[in-house]
Amino acid sequence: MTTTDTTMRALVLEDFGDLVLVERPRPAPGPGEALVRVLATGICGSDLHGYTGENGRRVPGQVMGHETVGTVVTLGDAGRPGAGIEQSPVPLAEGDVVVLNPTLSCGGCERCARGMSYICADRRVVGVDPAISAAFADYFVVSVANLVPFGGETLHGALVEPLAVGYHAAVRGGVGAGDDVLVLGGGPIGQAAALACARLRAASVTVSEPAPERRELLGRLGVDVLDPGAVDVAVEVIERTGGLGASVVIDAVGSSATLGTALAATTAGGVCVLVGMAAPRVELDAFAVSTFERTIVGTFCYSAAEFAETARWAQDHPELLRALVSRTVRAEDGPAAFAAMAAGDNPAGKVLVTFA
Ligand SMILES: [Zn+2]
Ligand SMILES: [Zn+2]
Repeated sequence: MTTTDTTMRALVLEDFGDLVLVERPRPAPGPGEALVRVLATGICGSDLHGYTGENGRRVPGQVMGHETVGTVVTLGDAGRPGAGIEQSPVPLAEGDVVVLNPTLSCGGCERCARGMSYICADRRVVGVDPAISAAFADYFVVSVANLVPFGGETLHGALVEPLAVGYHAAVRGGVGAGDDVLVLGGGPIGQAAALACARLRAASVTVSEPAPERRELLGRLGVDVLDPGAVDVAVEVIERTGGLGASVVIDAVGSSATLGTALAATTAGGVCVLVGMAAPRVELDAFAVSTFERTIVGTFCYSAAEFAETARWAQDHPELLRALVSRTVRAEDGPAAFAAMAAGDNPAGKVLVTFA
């Protein structure tokens, strides 16, 4: 496809199960915004379930994509350093490589005032909100406040968003030095959570994952792995922790079965973190929560500070992040990649769609 100076290529969700690469008008940045040239955008589980129509969180006609890295092409007037109020914490210049924090908040509600802008009453997420043309395209426009400079291996910038999800989950679980952590599910969010626990100096990190290729990837990250098809995960973890159980369990699957395992594997008084979204409703053993005083914590996004910290961490750990990327495909091959993944061909790590 040939595009002009005012158009771009975009992967549009024409209908559920039907993604097409089409020519679209190129967006222009308004005051306080930047036009970003996309280099690579990761395919998230939520994009995939939006593509199939399963999660109801994407609609036909939209351009998805929220895990992205690109370069600043132009800054809207107030986006230039010193010219506006909505500044990125670090001033941006044209040509800078940046990663997108896709969470947009109002800045004025009670939750924003408490520093929890990521659960803003009026939260919108780039790549989820159908009114915003997002990062499965050559270009997108966003407030400069949502862009963070990235100095690492360029493609690794597309991993910052899911890594921030895992980091916030570990922080919400209170993971710190001395903790024995169990992560259930070794997909990209489980991988991110496991890395975050190691980054927070947990004493041990064990990940339960049924797929052998994912266990192999996790082994390369330096964490312990368990095959839930071969062992009783809760029994095994209790044994490995001297009869106590894990002090924090992060459920990166989010089904009744995994939450049951999570509660069984958590020490009395410990914390279960629910970050996986496999099912909108789960059944749980209420007495396993009440009589052992376990805490269940919900987590979804990350704060702007956690996102920026994760970007800094990511640029310093290229050797670990290399293991997280399974495949890169060109924009033209994006529709085939979505179709294959929806049909069950899920690689161990991330699939990135490149637009450069
Ligand atoms: Zn995502
Ligand atoms: Zn708000």
